Amino acid sequence: MRICLLTRLLLVMCLLTLSGTGLQAQVHEGDARPAVASAAIVAREAADDASHANAGVDLFEAPLVPFVPPPDPLAGMHIASSPERSADFVVLISIDGLRADAVTPANHTLARLRNEGTWATDAMTIHRSTTLPSHASMVTGVDLPVHGMAWNAYRPSQGVVRFPTMFRVARMAGLATTMVVGKNKLRHLVDEGGAENFIIAGRGCDQIVSRASTVLRTGGPGIVFLHFADTDQAGHRHGWMSQPYLAAVEHADQCTERVVDTLSHRAGGLARVLLIVTSDHGGHRRSHGSASEVDRHIPWYAWGGAAARDTRVTRRVNTQDTASTILSALGLPQTPGIEGRPVVEALHESGSAALAERTTRRRGARTARAAPQH
Ligand SMILES: [Zn+2]
Repeated sequence: MRICLLTRLLLVMCLLTLSGTGLQAQVHEGDARPAVASAAIVAREAADDASHANAGVDLFEAPLVPFVPPPDPLAGMHIASSPERSADFVVLISIDGLRADAVTPANHTLARLRNEGTWATDAMTIHRSTTLPSHASMVTGVDLPVHGMAWNAYRPSQGVVRFPTMFRVARMAGLATTMVVGKNKLRHLVDEGGAENFIIAGRGCDQIVSRASTVLRTGGPGIVFLHFADTDQAGHRHGWMSQPYLAAVEHADQCTERVVDTLSHRAGGLARVLLIVTSDHGGHRRSHGSASEVDRHIPWYAWGGAAARDTRVTRRVNTQDTASTILSALGLPQTPGIEGRPVVEALHESGSAALAERTTRRRGARTARAAPQH
């Protein structure tokens, strides 16, 4: 096992040296940090990857085959955002490794979002419940066989996600796109023409929110993706649902509160804002990656002026539906070939056809809590 791990570390570091510039060319840096990660970061993430004992077949050890790019689903398309869109500004927070059942009323902000907005109670990530494959599905709307991201570490030679991200669709329509993340390996989610600004701000969610505060307060129409890594780290070190893990959940709750507070100070308030909070996977003991429910069940909350209030979605929602929902909210077309479907119940202005499809249980009375500003 030790030999195997060392071999992986050496190979990853060699690949970084030999081909780091290949990926660098496809990443649009949002800050002045060097585009190539330090060896320490790569080694740590390779160790993370190797620690996911249940992650299934590791393609890193599979024979390399020449990669033939699939046809581009967006080739030749002219994409525009419909003026009838329900949201101008979408913020997607992914709290890495946050189990759906780890959120309690004691986590005041997360509990507030799910109580006041739309809560999908049966949301699941893909069967490969690890960070990169799951996030790839979250931001593209397709499962692993289509987006091709079967690995879970920073591997520059592997290139980027192979199905257009929602960031790319948004940019084709002239919208702004920013990602502020806590793990270097999420560079693989920056496809050509995708996220305009990509910032690695550190593993603490405080750092993520601080780096994102300006774009959250003043950013124009488009998408901001925030990635909080603390919870996953606590889960691997101390075990999922342990006291340190639950403390990390509370910390993520406080970071989410800062995001909500910053958004409320936008010039137009929250009226045209859609905030979605979800996760890439759950976990059990000190790992995740299996197809079991405890690893796949994720929180999924939509909140803000562009979200439906007091709504429970009890049907199955897949993480692929997140990209689809965000495209729909921004009045953008669905990417040809996308597998996700918009969670129409979550959108405040989803049109009569969408309203007719609603299968949710609407709570009759408003709660005593303050409603989001419209
Ligand atoms: Zn993990």
